[in-house]
Amino acid sequence: PALEYEQLRRKIEIQARELSYFTTNQLNKISEKLSDADDKLKWKNVIERFGDQSRVLLASIRNITNVDRYQAWREHEHESLSKLMQARLNYLQNPAKPCTDVKRFTCDINKACGYGCEIHHAMHCFHIAYALGRPMILQSSGWRYNPRGFDQIFQPPSLNCNTSMASGASSWDAYKTADVVKIPLIDDIQPRTEFMPMSIPADISKRLIRLHGNPFVWFTGQLMKYLLRPQDWLMEFMKKKFEEIKFETPIVGIHVRRTDKVGTEAAFHDISEYMKYAEDYYITYQYQNPNSKFIKRVYLATDDPSVFNDARTKYPDYVFYGDTIVAQSAQLNTRYGTESLKGVLLDIHFLSLSDYLVCTFSSQICRVAYEIMQQRVIDGAWRVQPLDDVYYFGGQNPHNQRAVISHKAIWPNEFSFERDHIIGTEGNHWDGFSKGSDKTNGQSGLYPSYKTEEIVNIGQMYTYPEIQI
Ligand code: GDP
Repeated sequence: PALEYEQLRRKIEIQARELSYFTTNQLNKISEKLSDADDKLKWKNVIERFGDQSRVLLASIRNITNVDRYQAWREHEHESLSKLMQARLNYLQNPAKPCTDVKRFTCDINKACGYGCEIHHAMHCFHIAYALGRPMILQSSGWRYNPRGFDQIFQPPSLNCNTSMASGASSWDAYKTADVVKIPLIDDIQPRTEFMPMSIPADISKRLIRLHGNPFVWFTGQLMKYLLRPQDWLMEFMKKKFEEIKFETPIVGIHVRRTDKVGTEAAFHDISEYMKYAEDYYITYQYQNPNSKFIKRVYLATDDPSVFNDARTKYPDYVFYGDTIVAQSAQLNTRYGTESLKGVLLDIHFLSLSDYLVCTFSSQICRVAYEIMQQRVIDGAWRVQPLDDVYYFGGQNPHNQRAVISHKAIWPNEFSFERDHIIGTEGNHWDGFSKGSDKTNGQSGLYPSYKTEEIVNIGQMYTYPEIQI
């Protein structure tokens, strides 16, 4: 398929969703102001009818890939790019020469934060290792999730480079010249380079942009596919759980992040806020597959054990998978150690196996699940409804969009812009508006999300000429 065709298809999904966010929000606002009971009822019907028409439209859009005859190509391209990425990473991490004869990086997983946070730290290191073509040695002794190290959980990142070859590391300033360099935290890297997140490798950028609606997420998912290759016991453990809970599709994954996050880095969200989108997904799914009979399933992951009872009581027509004991081990006071690690690995695994995710992207758990999900689904950038942030990589370079339609501000707090202005985005409010600042005219505030599109950052990275597949 032509690049333009794939881009247009994805754009239509995004535009239909933006239309629905905006209109639903505006209709709700009007409804809240009505006092007359008859008017309220009429307006409720209007809102419901609009919601239903939106879902019918989304169902049609999502079915396009079933009939355009390109799906086999998409699957093939996904496989073939994944094979290329994995071969490159395998080559990178297992140099032909003795490891002490090659320039290498070292990275310490112990950032003293949560699992998702520490994995993303390791991914930032791995991204740099990939970009510069130097193997990464991961230090993980004393890791708070498994003090005896990463390699007991996942396969060793390298067979011939180990931590004994990481000693005497130089600091980042010497990254071009020194034999061993320690990669600092992403926020501490100076100078910033264009190949850091969220950029994708230039040499495969055309293919990635055609393949996927969010090429960086796909790329990160591939880095994870290599680095998080489970040890045999973990593979068995997951398989056993899969059979035990009788995991089946269709399924929506919901992640409810509470405890220490609420009021500090994120707002409290009631279960109904998540379920509204799960319900939308299922009605749309039914429209896509009118003859299919299915049970509405939700895989529920949370660090707040009370969510299970709340969800099961309020939504009796749903089957909820998920485990109170796992949620107990996820609470702040019981969070670290190997038992808790098994819980978070299970939750991320099943969230990533879902057809659709509803979660707060302020949580790294959901971002990890979304990234891993892209290893399996084809062009699945759309398979998420975040309740707060848009997707991001902590410490990333500026996240920019391009104005595709000029805009004259009419709403309070809106700013005006011309087509082709660069807008630094700070978030989508999922009500038709995004927040950001115009880098061309210096204004900031709200803007209508439907008038902009994402800019994909392309970085010059090592091109792995050794790998020909
Ligand atoms: P963030 O703080 O939500 O951005 O994500 P982090 O992964 O950095 O830290 C949160 C930690 O809380 C996780 O690593 C888990 O240990 C725990 N946690 C949070 N939510 C869940 C969940 O849904 N399931 C499980 N098992 N653990 C969770």
